[in-house]
Amino acid sequence: MLQPSSLAPVASVTSPLAPPSVTSPSRTAGVDLDAPTFVFLGDRLWLDFVNTDDARRADASSAARRADALRDFDVFIDWLQSASVLDTERATGIRRRAFQQPAGAAAALVDARRVRAALRALAERGLQSAKTRADALAEINRILGRSAGTRRVEQRTDGTYARTFVSVGDAFAGLMLPVVDSAADSLIAGELARVRRCSDPRCPHVFIDTTKNGRRRWCDMATCGNRAKAARHRRRARDGSSGLTIGP
Ligand SMILES: [Zn+2]
Repeated sequence: MLQPSSLAPVASVTSPLAPPSVTSPSRTAGVDLDAPTFVFLGDRLWLDFVNTDDARRADASSAARRADALRDFDVFIDWLQSASVLDTERATGIRRRAFQQPAGAAAALVDARRVRAALRALAERGLQSAKTRADALAEINRILGRSAGTRRVEQRTDGTYARTFVSVGDAFAGLMLPVVDSAADSLIAGELARVRRCSDPRCPHVFIDTTKNGRRRWCDMATCGNRAKAARHRRRARDGSSGLTIGP
């Protein structure tokens, strides 16, 4: 029997606190209307990372636009910052390195996409498919095996603690470490059975269901859950009267 409490003590990697549910990357220069909005609703860092491949437009009610967080290296770093994996100082350092070593940054981005694809497969099919689990494990171990550096625990300015990783050699090698650590934690804790995809078929979001009864259906009640409710109401109200017009 899986007790809810057994889901809790998954070691926090670099993000000691659950990130806010929706946050925008902090760009210092003015308001960037084109800045993507990141969604954190997976309840695990690796699931939030998987969800970064959702580049659909956000709800019409919000002007925010989602973008694939791996669209370019800069957005990738924005996401790592939003997820509290990188603090401002480290993010600035990594951006500087990327400017000096564009080929290395581009390779790191390609690599992150590859890991994300393996982790999405793990989230969606890992429970049923031993092959998918083995493939994801190979990706996780590839990243772990390549990341040489020093692990530390640091106290942050707000008084909270966070694990950090200072890589030696390849500056970009450690970037994916917290994400794969989080996936490894879920495998070790036997959490795959609790990983779900949103019940809205158009929504690709994956999340971990930590509810006691295991009945979380929507990635987010405020969006997909509400949309399902509203659609039911609309169907009833409309009841056959089609406002459909066909253009010339
Ligand atoms: Zn959803």
